[in-house]
Amino acid sequence: MNSKQGTKNHNYYSKQGSPLGTIPSDELSNFSDWQDFDQRLAQEIILTKEKGQGLGLMLLDIERLKYINGYLGYELGDQLLSQISQRLQSIMTDRSFFCRYSSDQFAFVFPLGDQLHIYEKKAKDILKLFESPFIVENNILDISVMLGISVYCSLNPQESLEVEELIKFAHIALLRCKSLGKKRYQFYSPELDQKSHNLFLLRNDMHKALAEGQFQLYYQPLVDLYTNEILALEALLRWEHPRYGMISPGDFIPIMEETGFIKKVGKWVLGEVCRHHRQWLNEGFPPTKISVNFSSVQFTEDHFVENIQEILNSNQLDPRYLIIEITENLIMDNDRKVIEDIQRLQEMGIMIAVDDFGTGYSSLSYLDSFKVDVIKIDSSFIQKAPTNKTSAIITRSIITLAHELGIKLVAEGIETPEQLAYLQMFNCYAGQGFLFSKPVPQQEVKVILARNECS
Ligand code: C2E
Ligand code: MG
Ligand code: MG
Repeated sequence: MNSKQGTKNHNYYSKQGSPLGTIPSDELSNFSDWQDFDQRLAQEIILTKEKGQGLGLMLLDIERLKYINGYLGYELGDQLLSQISQRLQSIMTDRSFFCRYSSDQFAFVFPLGDQLHIYEKKAKDILKLFESPFIVENNILDISVMLGISVYCSLNPQESLEVEELIKFAHIALLRCKSLGKKRYQFYSPELDQKSHNLFLLRNDMHKALAEGQFQLYYQPLVDLYTNEILALEALLRWEHPRYGMISPGDFIPIMEETGFIKKVGKWVLGEVCRHHRQWLNEGFPPTKISVNFSSVQFTEDHFVENIQEILNSNQLDPRYLIIEITENLIMDNDRKVIEDIQRLQEMGIMIAVDDFGTGYSSLSYLDSFKVDVIKIDSSFIQKAPTNKTSAIITRSIITLAHELGIKLVAEGIETPEQLAYLQMFNCYAGQGFLFSKPVPQQEVKVILARNECS
């Protein structure tokens, strides 16, 4: 499933695999394939060593290119790549070169010496190229990229880097970027190595983890900020790894998304949520709304809506008690199939919540395309709102926006009474956070349901 796994030359850091579309690589870059690029890089390293200089290798990862290809077709995907390539050409300088390194990655070499700040400036220049959207046949596409960077410095006697290591290090840095979030760059450092190695091991362990029941669901209540009454529960995935202990979803969800494994786990999550809900109902608890996080990748699943319907039916659950949390980037592209699927889910009675609101692409135009039921203001705004003027203004504006559009609002990550007071002052009625309850294991939910409030 993972297009970046295993060739003999490049271990798991390899490139190859998923379809590249129809456009020849040398129309997009200086090389027809990565082998030529690697050769040229090897020559450049020799030259750099001889001159006692340094060079930087950057791997640029284009987020969601696979989905754009999947939703809009390879022809449009290729047109997008051509435009990306044109923008990239504009920052190339003497002796620098680049190549399309895999279906959604470009690799660059900049022989710019051994000063990190020079590469930092270059990385910022590259990220800037993606600040304005790409327009491909009437589709306005906001493209996020990230950069993993490894720098070779021939003055450092400990460094005897060769092509493979340089590429491997840039990959490690890129993996780190992926777990930190989009639109950033990361330099390789040896400390990243251990982390990356662990993530690689996790990647291998996932299938076994599902089969052996290492995944669990925790639930965090969403509460009425005035009465403390429980309005819903959010299901949050946990991985109790036999060797590493509890692993945060922030670490493993990106890997699951990259490998496509999230589709399988996502189905498992929904199945478990429904099974738990059915149990609570059978034990006499009143029905509770349950909010489930869905990754964009899950929307590419075959029979996506039907599968959800089937899971609900087989547990005899009313769809009105399910909330599906999506992120803004899913709806930003205005993709017809996604919007249709969302509308079909809503017609069934399922509510759609936009998670981490305010952290994604800033365009609000999607609010015009279909009716969002719930907006969840990202915790970063809530936590800074009482003391930071910009966060305060953003929080207040989101509250007003939601009220005026008749969208329900939930504030995430409320930790202090000050944050709560601030939200109450601006008439935000619902929220979740450690101030009320941390996420609790499934077995403890019944205690919360019995009380029906968080004090
Ligand atoms: P999210 O959906 O935005 O979930 C809220 C996160 O904030 C949770 O982290 C929760 O434990 C944490 N949180 C809640 N209240 C507070 C607070 O007061 N302070 C702080 N500092 N944090 C708080 P968690 O469980 O680590 O999940 C992280 C993210 O992983 C989730 O963010 C969600 O995007 C993703 N995720 C979790 N479970 C699933 C799942 O089943 N499927 C998918 N696709 N993603 C999931
Ligand atoms: Mg969520
Ligand atoms: Mg969130």
